[in-house]
Amino acid sequence: MADGTPQTSGIQVSRSEEEWLEDQVRRSVWVTQWDKVIDKLIDPLYNWGRRNSVWPMGFGLACCAIEMICTSASRFDISRFGMELFRASPRQADLMLVSGTVTKKMAPAVVRLYNQMAEPKYVLAMGACASAGGPFKEGYSVVSGVDKLVPVDVYVPGCPPTPQALLYGLMQLQKKIDKQSVREVAWYRKGETEGVPEPVLGPDLFDPRRAEEITALARDPQSLAARAVKIQTKADAKAEKK
Ligand code: SF4
Repeated sequence: MADGTPQTSGIQVSRSEEEWLEDQVRRSVWVTQWDKVIDKLIDPLYNWGRRNSVWPMGFGLACCAIEMICTSASRFDISRFGMELFRASPRQADLMLVSGTVTKKMAPAVVRLYNQMAEPKYVLAMGACASAGGPFKEGYSVVSGVDKLVPVDVYVPGCPPTPQALLYGLMQLQKKIDKQSVREVAWYRKGETEGVPEPVLGPDLFDPRRAEEITALARDPQSLAARAVKIQTKADAKAEKK
């Protein structure tokens, strides 16, 4: 060859051996784009299987549980959605269906069971109580929504929601599952996942990761007072005007 590049019957031999080898592989092996295979084939198949076989863990905490039980009976027939296998063990469940009032005494158990569930896992808050505290919001013994403890995927409003509303919420969860990819769901993330910290039962629930900070503040009343939000009363406002 005039340019000095050796040539064999129809195959251009590249400059380095490595590039020549890469050329050969490209010619002889069907190299696919794995991203496209995952997007078009694996994700739809994987999500189709998951969305139609969600195993809920029934977390009946109050009156909403009656409607949840109705939903699983023959009139409403939750098995049409492949979700009829209510499990008593978190190890066998991937949906925590919280139906009812979450009390502070129950909060550590809710978090512990959530941490024990298999990934990828979901939480559905059924009813006003589980979503935001309901009629007992701000009560001394009630958590203002289960989302204060664990991440919630679907909220179903109502006091109590009808079985049809719960089924609609489950269909929304199916839509959410459909949009996920095997590359993103928690199970496929690298490294260990840190569980949600269990709240400590005391005068109020607090995050145990801030225990040291809270203890230090409690020892120093002045800095605690400096952080307090001052609520201005009408009398204060009048006194200021004068
Ligand atoms: S939302 Fe209403 S029906 Fe449901 S647990 Fe609370 S009070 Fe009971």
